[in-house]
Amino acid sequence: MTEQKKLQPLQAVKGMNDILPPESARWEWLEAKMRSVLQRYGYQNVRTPIVEPTALFVRGIGEVTDIVEKEMYAFEDRADKHGQAEHLALRPEMTAGVVRAMTEHSFLRDSGRRLYYFGAMFRREKPQKGRYRQFHQMGVEALGFAGPDVDAEVILMGSRLLRELGLKDGEHFRLELNCLGAPDERRAHREALVAHLEAHKALLDEDSQRRMYTNPLRVLDTKNPALQAMANAAPKLLDFLGEASLAHFNGVRAILDAAGIAYTINPRLVRGLDYYNLTVFEWVTDKLGAQGTICGGGRYDGLIEQLGGKPAPAVGFGMGFERMLLLLEEVGVLPAPPVPHAYAIVPSAKGLPQVMVALEALREAGVQVVLHPGQSSMKSQFKKADASGAAWALIFGEDELAQGLVAVKPLRGEKGGEGGEQVARPLSAVADWAVELLNA
Ligand code: ATP
Ligand code: MG
Repeated sequence: MTEQKKLQPLQAVKGMNDILPPESARWEWLEAKMRSVLQRYGYQNVRTPIVEPTALFVRGIGEVTDIVEKEMYAFEDRADKHGQAEHLALRPEMTAGVVRAMTEHSFLRDSGRRLYYFGAMFRREKPQKGRYRQFHQMGVEALGFAGPDVDAEVILMGSRLLRELGLKDGEHFRLELNCLGAPDERRAHREALVAHLEAHKALLDEDSQRRMYTNPLRVLDTKNPALQAMANAAPKLLDFLGEASLAHFNGVRAILDAAGIAYTINPRLVRGLDYYNLTVFEWVTDKLGAQGTICGGGRYDGLIEQLGGKPAPAVGFGMGFERMLLLLEEVGVLPAPPVPHAYAIVPSAKGLPQVMVALEALREAGVQVVLHPGQSSMKSQFKKADASGAAWALIFGEDELAQGLVAVKPLRGEKGGEGGEQVARPLSAVADWAVELLNA
């Protein structure tokens, strides 16, 4: 006999999670809640590829960002017959892909577009609670609109979503807002900032010293506690804003104020991607430790041109699914897992064709009914019926079937359990009584 080597089972990639039942039902629930809000604002769904040319992200997100420098899953594809290999990357975010798609299909030629997406993103970060290497976002992008009304609209939409999920503003989340101004204002601020950083050079870690000249704003975005005082004393971009930027910022604020949306202005909020200008915002929570940003976004008027499209303004945000679910769980507002209306108990295999036709009629009437698979004792079938969480057991006994009937027995509530009274219902007229199963 040849010795068989036992194969080791394989495991998922570190930082990439399986989403299994009953957890997956929460994902579906959250997605449905999000969709319901998005549709009320007239946003349309868009789906773009997970793999894009690496250059899209390098140009879009910026060369001197954590994402592009260290976190991107980028690779060289196999060479084609001419020996040419494409440089490809798993998307670390979706804004660049959406902009590419809109430009490629000339979707912004006649009017602006309001879009949303759901999808997996990939960043090679250190996996921990709320931070994964494959994670999921819901995002919105409003492309082709320059005014503060649309900045305010996406913020109102995000705020509505958080509240409709059962979260309380001020208690479970809060909104931070900043204005990054226009490129020339940022340049003037940048000069002052670099001078400030140079004066404190000895304090800076290696990363910050390098970034001081390439991306000084990002030095302020540091999580290093030793740098907080220096960062707090740094020149503030808000003090460098001109009239137009201030008017835009005040326009956004006036709408939020009128709508009763609370926010704090955080002059240090710069976001981790290079493409933002004017309005930037984040919803943060103190319930998830260091992974406290549940949603972030802002205006990115230069990105479309940067990616080779006809210049057009844009604003959007991205919301992390995993962090949202962690927060909802922490706060205790997640719904119970869904249960079927009914569970079908089949004492004898002989009746199966008749039973399965009857179940089809029930499903036609909207009933969620689970068939007990295969053969087993009545006792074990009832146990499974109970464990399913269904409100009703449908018992397809041989005698009942012979008369064209099914026994309907309540499993829960006042009449549920052992003493629950069962009634016989006709299989020829399922639609007449199916409604009582739906309204259990
Ligand atoms: P952080 O500062 O926490 O790294 P970020 O600024 O990199 O967040 P964005 O690029 O703005 O995040 O993405 C938007 C949202 O996506 C975040 O607010 C967060 O909820 C979620 N997110 C980002 N990175 C991850 C990750 N690695 N794992 C899980 N969720 C993430
Ligand atoms: Mg990050």
